[in-house]
Amino acid sequence: AITIDEGIEGYREEAVKIASENCRILGVEHYTISFKDLYGYTLDEIVKKIRDSGSNLTPCSYCGVLRRKALNILARKIGATKIAVAHNLDDEIQTFILNIMHGDPIRITRAGPVFEEEREGLIPRVKPLCEILEKEVTLYAYLKGIKFQENPCPYAGEALRNDVRNMLNRLEEKHPGTKYTIFRSAEKIREKMRESKPEINLRTCKICGEVTVGEICRACKLLQNLSIQK
Ligand SMILES: [Zn+2]
Repeated sequence: AITIDEGIEGYREEAVKIASENCRILGVEHYTISFKDLYGYTLDEIVKKIRDSGSNLTPCSYCGVLRRKALNILARKIGATKIAVAHNLDDEIQTFILNIMHGDPIRITRAGPVFEEEREGLIPRVKPLCEILEKEVTLYAYLKGIKFQENPCPYAGEALRNDVRNMLNRLEEKHPGTKYTIFRSAEKIREKMRESKPEINLRTCKICGEVTVGEICRACKLLQNLSIQK
């Protein structure tokens, strides 16, 4: 198992500790990698730089991109052939709605439960929990006595995702089943879009050598914006 330590003081230490403890109970080898090691800065330090620079990007937009890259790097290093992430149905439909709200529907095709194409250097991601509601995952953990972190990330409240999450919870409460139908709609749209999607040419990032669609990967671009390229 892999855990990324983003470097969020007063929050992430607990999660890393719990993950490590769960791995020990299960007899699974546990690897961690930190933003500090990989990029030279913790997320807290990056957030400070974002604020100083006056950028309107949220901590989450940095964290998401940097974490994805970190996962791929460490997974490749330990010889993993797949990355199973714990995104649940709530996460999936939030992402779907967010892509629409951001005017970025093309990303819907890339956000599916399975990353089908196997490309060199890019470890395919699978999402075994993607059809299970977040509250059912939580309930299962409680019933089975699986320890997990209950506090949300201190930066999460700033993100648009949080508002989408609350909106979907309200809808689901008033109109049960809404979350499932959104999920199914997303699947249908994704399928149609994949059929007509032009082949994307993947290249390697000029700066770090990771697989990317452009000349420079998003992680490097974001770090460049803050002039902290490592
Ligand atoms: Zn790069």
